[in-house]
Amino acid sequence: MDHFLYRDGLLHAEDVSVAEIAAAVETPFYLYSTATLTRHFKLFDEALEGLPHLVCYAMKAASNQAILKTLAAQGAGMDVVSGGEYARARAAGVPGSRIVFSGVGKTNAEIRAALEGGIRQFNVESEPELEAISRIAAGMGVAAPVAIRVNPDVDAKTHAKIATGKSENKFGIPIARARAVYAHAAALPGLKVVGIDVHIGSQLTDLAPFEAAYRKVADLTEALRADGHEITRLDLGGGLGIPYTRSNEAPPLPMDYGALIKRTVGHLGCEVEIEPGRLIAGNAGILVTRVIYLKSGEGRDFLILDAAMNDLIRPAMYEAHHDIVPVIEPAPGIEPQPFDIVGPVCESGDTFARARPMPPLGPGDLVAFRSAGAYGAVMASEYNTRPLIPEVMVHGDQFAVIRPRPSFDEIINRDTIPQWL
Ligand SMILES: *Cc1c(COP(=O)(O)O)cnc(C)c1O
Repeated sequence: MDHFLYRDGLLHAEDVSVAEIAAAVETPFYLYSTATLTRHFKLFDEALEGLPHLVCYAMKAASNQAILKTLAAQGAGMDVVSGGEYARARAAGVPGSRIVFSGVGKTNAEIRAALEGGIRQFNVESEPELEAISRIAAGMGVAAPVAIRVNPDVDAKTHAKIATGKSENKFGIPIARARAVYAHAAALPGLKVVGIDVHIGSQLTDLAPFEAAYRKVADLTEALRADGHEITRLDLGGGLGIPYTRSNEAPPLPMDYGALIKRTVGHLGCEVEIEPGRLIAGNAGILVTRVIYLKSGEGRDFLILDAAMNDLIRPAMYEAHHDIVPVIEPAPGIEPQPFDIVGPVCESGDTFARARPMPPLGPGDLVAFRSAGAYGAVMASEYNTRPLIPEVMVHGDQFAVIRPRPSFDEIINRDTIPQWL
C-alpha cells in the first residue's frame, strides 16, 4: 500500500496534489511520501517483534538525507556499501553503532574511516578483506566487529543482474568453506567475530529461497558454535520484492517474512539484522514527468516524455516494468490505446514501455511512474547534460524540495580547464 492515490480526479501524494508540485518544481522530478516510507519501515520492525533485532535500511536504494533522517527517526539502522554512504548516514545523524558496512570491495581508506567513526559491523566478503580489516584495526589498536558473508548457493529466482546467492556470483564466501574462514578470522588480530551475514538477491517474490538460505545459516551457526566461535548476531540481508504492477503480483508480506525468520533462526538466541531497501523505498516514490510530444509513427504512436533513461535507468538496465499513470484520472469508460513511451535521449534503450495501453494523452500532460522510489534517483546520471532531477518529499499537506535541480552553470563549472588550454 502507498499514499499516491487519486482524489477528486487528481493524483495526490498524501494530501498534496501532484499537479500543484509540478507547477512549483517543474518536471521531471522524484516525489517521495513520508507516510509510505515510515509505514514500510514499521512493517519490518513489527514483523520481527519478539526477537532482538535491528532493521538496517539498505540506503543504496534511495539515500537522500531527508529519507535517511525520516527512517532514522523511526529507529532504523543503515546498511552502507561505500565510504560515501557511510558519510551520508553519519551526516543524517545515524550513530556508527547502527551502521553495518557491506560490499565486496571495501578500500583501506573506507575501512579506516568506518573504524574511526564507529561501526556496528563489517560484513566481510573475502579472506583478503578479512586480512585488510585485521591489519588496519590492529594498527589502530582496536577490534573490528565482523560478520562473514556466506554464499549459501541458493537460486533466488530473480533477474540475473540482481541475483547474488549462487556460487557463481562474486558475493561472499562459499558456505562450504565457512568453517575454515571463521577459523582463519579467529586467529587474526584486530577482529571480533560477531556473526554471520547472508544476502541472496533483490526483488525476490517467493519466500522459498529465503527459507533455504536461512536454514543453512542456522545449521552453520550451530557448527560454528561447536567449533568454539561466539555467534551472537545474524544479518539476513534484504531482497524482499515489491509489486511493480497493480494487477497480478502479490509478493510476500513482511509479516510472513518475519514469521519465516522466527521459524528458521528464532531458536538460536541471536540478535537479528535485516537490510531491506527496495521494499521500504520502492513504492514510497514516484517519478513525475510531462509529455513533450505525441508522435505518430508507422503503426505505432510514441509518447515522448521529458524524463529519460538517465533519470530512471531500471527499464533499460533490468527490463523493468513501471506502471505509468496519468496525473489526471481518466474518465470512466475511456478506451485505452497503445503507446510506446520514450525519453529524449539518443539511444533506442531510452524506451520505458512498448505498446503500453494508456488513456489519450497529449503535449503538456503529466504522467507518473509508480514504484520509482528505489534504485531511481540514486542510479541517475547527467548523460546528455541533462541535470539530475530534483527530489521532493511530501509529509501530510506539506512538500519540500529535498534536492534541487542543478543549473547548467553548476554542471559546467564542475569541469576544470587544464592550464595548457
Ligand atoms: C542491495 C542490497 C540490499 C538491499 O536489497 P533490496 O532488494 O533493496 O532489499 C541489502 N543488502 C545487501 C548486501 C545488498 O547488496
